[in-house]
Amino acid sequence: MEILILFGAPFSGKGTQGKILALKTGFMHVSTGDILRDERKNHTELGLLAETYIRQGHLVPDELLEEMIESVIEKCKKEKGIILDGYPRTINQAVTLQMLAQKHGVAIRKVLFLDVPQDELIARGIHRSQDSDRIDDKDPNIMNKRIEIYRRDTKPVGDYYINKKLSVTISGIGEIEEVAERILASI
Ligand code: AMP
Repeated sequence: MEILILFGAPFSGKGTQGKILALKTGFMHVSTGDILRDERKNHTELGLLAETYIRQGHLVPDELLEEMIESVIEKCKKEKGIILDGYPRTINQAVTLQMLAQKHGVAIRKVLFLDVPQDELIARGIHRSQDSDRIDDKDPNIMNKRIEIYRRDTKPVGDYYINKKLSVTISGIGEIEEVAERILASI
């Protein structure tokens, strides 16, 4: 099993592209945001706790996600690969992932950085808010907060993988299929 990390800002299209890439590669699409929202729907302790952070546009603390991500890796061990969408989001998470990958004998193959300029992210966020049922998509202040936290806490993770020579930058601008083709060509 190997891991492809789909990396990018909120509204960069990770979720949409992750699903397409999963269909095209046979890898499993794993979105930590989706898992947390499912946990919330199921009223688990993790889901209820995570919601208090998600609602404010904050990141869920690293230590709450470690067990969850290890169980994903364990469950998917027999898969060809996974597309990790939304994890890691902090340097600490990147270090944890490295450690877990080693522990379970899986390789991080590539980090696909979906590059979308800030003004386009905001435009997409406003567009998404019109028909989204996510609690964190409704309020423009929360959407801006998520972008701000991305720049502060998550962007350095991109640099971490550039230093490891694992990162490839893909323009996230254009039609969905166009971007999907670019991603496929880069792996
Ligand atoms: P997403 O669906 O990827 O936009 O994630 C929605 C929200 O879930 C984020 O704004 C965070 O509050 C939380 N979340 C998802 N993945 C992570 C992560 N790796 N670290 C911390 N919080 C996360």
